[in-house]
Amino acid sequence: MGTEVTVYLWHDDNVTGQDAVNAVFKEVERIDKLMSTYIEDSEISAINREAAEKPVAVSDELFTLILRSLDISVLTRGAFDITYDSIGQHYDFREGLRPDEGTISEELPRIDYRFVEPNRADGTIRFTEPGVRINLGGIAKGYAVERGIDILKEFGVAHARVTAGGDSRLLGDRRGQPWMVGVQNPRDRTRVAVTLPLENEAISTSGDYERFFEEDGERYHHIIEPATGQPAGEVRSTTIIGPDAVLTDALSTSVFVMGVDQGLRLLATLPDYEGIVIDIEGRMFYSDGLQPPQ
Ligand code: ADP
Ligand code: MG
Repeated sequence: MGTEVTVYLWHDDNVTGQDAVNAVFKEVERIDKLMSTYIEDSEISAINREAAEKPVAVSDELFTLILRSLDISVLTRGAFDITYDSIGQHYDFREGLRPDEGTISEELPRIDYRFVEPNRADGTIRFTEPGVRINLGGIAKGYAVERGIDILKEFGVAHARVTAGGDSRLLGDRRGQPWMVGVQNPRDRTRVAVTLPLENEAISTSGDYERFFEEDGERYHHIIEPATGQPAGEVRSTTIIGPDAVLTDALSTSVFVMGVDQGLRLLATLPDYEGIVIDIEGRMFYSDGLQPPQ
């Protein structure tokens, strides 16, 4: 997934604890293979290759994740959109490559989650337009940490933290104390903007500092605004807290695209989810259910 995965856990038996850690890493690798658009024979690559020509049969697991993604597109009025990849595929952050204007105007009309047609009756996915592509990078890590915690529970673990890049899922507390999770300062890797005491929650941060390059003073990063095909420009980072890491992951990306006002308004409609937005000037905004530090 192009990111670091860490697992903390307590278990009375050293060997079982080690087995549990290994099982989580194995699962993350499996999910990476399932969802990677870079692996030719992954299910997602087969969809991107064939779904514009014919319905493509996919596993229940991937089908369910695609359905969830489409639901989140409806919830966020298209801010979250797995078809962003028509343009996303033209970025290479390591090489500092980005699509030119011509490519953007050619690919932009292909971004619309409504072009993805799931068929519940036979578990197939079809694209209703040629050139459409999907990429689950906006929820893959949230799903991976959610699955990681499920596996740890099967091993009898009651206190754990699984992190993949900016997405964490906490199980229980830190044995009598809350987990302390820092929200990074978006312009200084060595500092945290705020620290949150949490238990039994998921927390996801999306930032314009994760994958980016600069060109002529402009910052080009990895969160694409589906309406314009450009990197979303209103905020530096968004952090979402809630019970389910798949949704906190998707919502951190969505609120990033929506910006401060619209993003916080969306969170106000979701009683279990809270968020912190750091805007492009570095100002911090908290959703209603959070008590900002004094
Ligand atoms: P991070 O990868 O830093 O945790 P996010 O959780 O916000 O950040 O995920 C960003 C990823 O989501 C991008 O790398 C890309 O794969 C995907 N993505 C980018 N823009 C969108 C979008 N508008 N809707 C859905 N997914 C997106
Ligand atoms: Mg996210």
